[in-house]
Amino acid sequence: MSATPSETPRRLAGLAQFARAAFGLVLDTALPPLCAACRQPVGGSGGLCASCWSKVSFIAPPYCERLGIPFAYDPGPGILSMEAIADPPRL
Ligand SMILES: [Zn+2]
Repeated sequence: MSATPSETPRRLAGLAQFARAAFGLVLDTALPPLCAACRQPVGGSGGLCASCWSKVSFIAPPYCERLGIPFAYDPGPGILSMEAIADPPRL
């Protein structure tokens, strides 16, 4: 036995790293990047396909300044949502 006990974990870590790299390579070739929303293959680095990007609605004012809940109407500046008043988050 030439391996000392301190060498064994390092060898196992290297083996795990190699297995992960090889497995990741197989996954990358077997499964092209899919759209996160509709699971259709997308080119490039993945994310969302063009049609899903166009459907994304970003949160825009007016919204509750504390919880970020969008308001259906603009209640004016500095107004908190009912949820923020009833159950204020700990800051
Ligand atoms: Zn999509």
